Amino acid sequence: MQADFHNSGKICLSATDFSLDSVPLPPQRHWHRLFVSIRAPPRCSRGNPSIFQWRGGMRCALSLLPDGPRPAGGVFPGWHGTRPLSSGESAAVSIPCSLTRCPDLPFPCPVSFFFPSMSDTPHTPPAFNLKNPCLARMKRAVKLSGEGSPKDTRHFEIDLRGSGMTYEPGDSLAVLPTNCPELVNDVLHALGATGDEPVKDATQREMTFREALTSICNLATPDKKFLNAIVERSGNAPELAKLLDPARKDQLIQHLHGRELIDFLHEFPDAKFQPQEFVSFCKRLLIRLYSISSSLKAHPDSVHLTVATVRYHTFGRDRKGVASTFLAERTVLNETVIPTFINAGKGFRLPSPDDDIPIIMCGPGTGIAPFRAFLQEREATQAKGKAWLFFGEISAKTDFFYAEEWDQYLKKGVLTRLDTAFSRDQEKKIYVQHRMVEAAEELWKWLEEGAIFYVCGDASRMAADVDDALHTAIEKAGGKTREEAVAYVEEMRKSKRYRRDVY
Ligand SMILES: Cc1cc2nc3c(=O)[nH]c(=O)nc-3n(C[C@H](O)[C@H](O)[C@H](O)COP(=O)(O)OP(=O)(O)OC[C@H]3O[C@@H](n4cnc5c(N)ncnc54)[C@H](O)[C@@H]3O)c2cc1C
Repeated sequence: MQADFHNSGKICLSATDFSLDSVPLPPQRHWHRLFVSIRAPPRCSRGNPSIFQWRGGMRCALSLLPDGPRPAGGVFPGWHGTRPLSSGESAAVSIPCSLTRCPDLPFPCPVSFFFPSMSDTPHTPPAFNLKNPCLARMKRAVKLSGEGSPKDTRHFEIDLRGSGMTYEPGDSLAVLPTNCPELVNDVLHALGATGDEPVKDATQREMTFREALTSICNLATPDKKFLNAIVERSGNAPELAKLLDPARKDQLIQHLHGRELIDFLHEFPDAKFQPQEFVSFCKRLLIRLYSISSSLKAHPDSVHLTVATVRYHTFGRDRKGVASTFLAERTVLNETVIPTFINAGKGFRLPSPDDDIPIIMCGPGTGIAPFRAFLQEREATQAKGKAWLFFGEISAKTDFFYAEEWDQYLKKGVLTRLDTAFSRDQEKKIYVQHRMVEAAEELWKWLEEGAIFYVCGDASRMAADVDDALHTAIEKAGGKTREEAVAYVEEMRKSKRYRRDVY
């Protein structure tokens, strides 16, 4: 068995165009992939990943990503990139590049190359997680909702080149967002702070108050510690004090609905907080999950998402969902760093492409996301079984997401049947569950052929309505009582033929 091959060198900058020197490889071996890693030299004072913006010959261009998050006030530890090698490159590799911006990066800069051998086990992709997210960038964003739609649903493509991050259809992408700068400014203003005050997070990492409010603090849902502190510090909060009685938990939940931390700062201006204590009274800003709407087999270098932007107005204030508006409003293409990692889809998986098993996919709204990934995967793997998609939204004119793609899949036979329900296109509202009951005979036939039934999307109402429609269709077309239909669905669940990804 041949071993991996390591080499190292230096990037030398003589002009703005340069190349990573030709790296000789041991002859008569087959190399399939190149990993490059560049360590930031200690003198590199500005830790901005954009100083490494490689533009090279098309064939050899290699995109580099930072190794990990930048420590507060520190520099990025380095950058890494990976790309497959073509057969002609098995003797030597050189990477022509041009550095488009280089404010103060010292050269020469150490660089190491790693070539895993073809016969060895494949390189284990870097384990990205919350502590070590993949710092990706968005390369394309398209608004899916047409003009006149009350919704704002968008399609995003996030660049994975050089990251080594991989995923399967059915997985979701975790996104670590930042808060809206206007909201951060409002909080700073309400607290009488400048934002430059030094604070520490729970791990004693130092940062400015503004950085903490932007990246660490959940500015939406107030923690009980914070509400108690308001009551203690304000002479004016007897009603809030009553709501904090554990016996009035439901009333507190009702009171908090539609309110955010900023509302309490405005309502009780006499409650004062020092920056550090404010940070410690906040819950932590959490990741958001998004069902992946692409297959790596169709898009080897990217991950696609289908995201509904959350915006609403309560108590006299416009509110923004943190992550959906981070992606829709505050992400600059090819620039803004998006910390991400993959959350495995557990049971939400396709059958093997060789298995002649029909699949029924029910994905209204953004619930369509994983099924776009499924169909891309099935086209690439020439999967055998039949496929049926239920999609629903407000109106065909403005919200028929990815319509042309479904059309192509129907023509090519990747999709066997498509049923749509556009609730406001006729007087009586029609949803996917109505279409399921209308198609009960055919649905029953597919179920009896062993079809897997998938549902994805809204957990609050849609999932229950679709579940009810599934039972009704089985009763109606299968000639069963309600109890028998319940037992039939239970059996589907046990044999993993009823798979749900609802949120
Ligand atoms: C496995 C999984 C997959 C998912 N896939 C997708 C997907 O493919 N596409 C997608 O768009 N989402 C998806 N989601 C949901 C997504 O994770 C986020 O929850 C969603 O985008 C909202 O996040 P946000 O940060 O924008 O909003 P947040 O800042 O979390 O705000 C949302 C909150 O605002 C409040 N709120 C919203 N509207 C109102 C109102 N009118 N009145 C009062 N309060 C209100 C509610 O408390 C709500 O929980 C998925 C979730 C899971 C768990």
